[in-house]
Amino acid sequence: MTLQTSTFDSDFDRHHIWHPYTSVTDPLPVYPVRRAYEVFLELEDGRRLIDGMSSWWSAIHGYNHPVLNDAVVTQLQRMSHVMFGGLTHEPAVTLAKKLTGLLPSSLQKVFFSDSGSVAVEVAIKMAFQYWSALAESGKNRLLTVRSGYHGDTFTAMSVSDPETGMHTLFKGVIAEQLFADAPACRFHEPCSDEDMASLTRLLERHHTEIAAVIIEPVVQGAGGMRFYSPHYLVRLRALCDHYDVLLIFDEIATGFGRTGKLFALEHAGVVPDIICVGKALTGGYMTLAATVTTERVSEAICSGSPGLFMHGPTFMANPLACAVASASITLLGSYDWQAAVTRLEAGLREGLEPCRTYSSVADVRVLGAIGVVELHRPVEMRVVQQQLVDRGVWVRPFGRLIYLMPPFIIPQAELSLLCKAVCDVVEAIA
Ligand code: PLP
Repeated sequence: MTLQTSTFDSDFDRHHIWHPYTSVTDPLPVYPVRRAYEVFLELEDGRRLIDGMSSWWSAIHGYNHPVLNDAVVTQLQRMSHVMFGGLTHEPAVTLAKKLTGLLPSSLQKVFFSDSGSVAVEVAIKMAFQYWSALAESGKNRLLTVRSGYHGDTFTAMSVSDPETGMHTLFKGVIAEQLFADAPACRFHEPCSDEDMASLTRLLERHHTEIAAVIIEPVVQGAGGMRFYSPHYLVRLRALCDHYDVLLIFDEIATGFGRTGKLFALEHAGVVPDIICVGKALTGGYMTLAATVTTERVSEAICSGSPGLFMHGPTFMANPLACAVASASITLLGSYDWQAAVTRLEAGLREGLEPCRTYSSVADVRVLGAIGVVELHRPVEMRVVQQQLVDRGVWVRPFGRLIYLMPPFIIPQAELSLLCKAVCDVVEAIA
């Protein structure tokens, strides 16, 4: 293929723009994208990469989708944004109706915010305000499990894994929370008393101080790409009820079909008191998240002093984002997405299976539209990223993990190429 020249100013990018988790003085290479469509990212030099990441869990329908484009354009011609304080609009109401229609029926009170991390902050604030309204001011800590990830704002960081997260860096600044062992029971296994022991002990000892347990249901994402037993959530719900502690599910990564169920909580049939969704909410078009809670929690918050929930972002319920989120939900309901995810699961299993034979590989696991190759040692990101791009795929490894979560619409041929590229790179590491 002839590579095209472009006017893209890589030098300016390199010297002035921070990318996620990188240095601005010695940054890792970045690959300029000029266009994205279906499951392809087209680089400024003309190369075309098959997308294996859905832009970090979000672009479930692929890129440049005509239905989603149309929703944005139609809404843009009406209004792109108005403040949500004292005003409201149809896109927010329609989206809230759709969202509450999809979630378990007790989750009815919707707070829109700008990103996943903020949705987590909002959920935690709801939990603290709930207990404060009930005059239980001692309940001001959180309990979670190791290997979690909930975002990069300060309280979200405080409940993310203390080792792989940023606790050391911000010691003394971020709140110290309680951490149980990461769930050890695997996806298809029940959880024994031993599996629950660490969590049970902490609840037993500290329940009077604990406002809420926060957890990613079934799949722990950026904290290790771990899948665990839905039965853990059943037992966790019972423990939270027993010790009078709220339960928050962070479905920001898992929501909207990624694990094979619309929400991962459906694997367990468990309903939390508060849920956070984001990422795929807008089909990856725009940043939007929501924190949804029950009548019980919202009524308590609003009956205590000051009788209000104290949060209100400038871009709350942005109409463009709400409109595209509604369109994305409708799109998901318009075809058999579950069959698409089942097909993807089978394709990932088959395509990644050869990786198991390499000495560098510790584990290969697949759940829904998520495929993970775990290595024994961390990869050298700069090198492996380049090798994957050279093979025509976009996959972003981290630590010891090379993982795939392609758009649901990926054709079988592209999925096979994606898996093959990963296996080739893993073989080269071995
Ligand atoms: N919670 C989970 C489970 C996530 O995976 C993420 C992001 O990866 C977040 C929260 C934070 O979301 P955002 O990056 O939109 O702030």
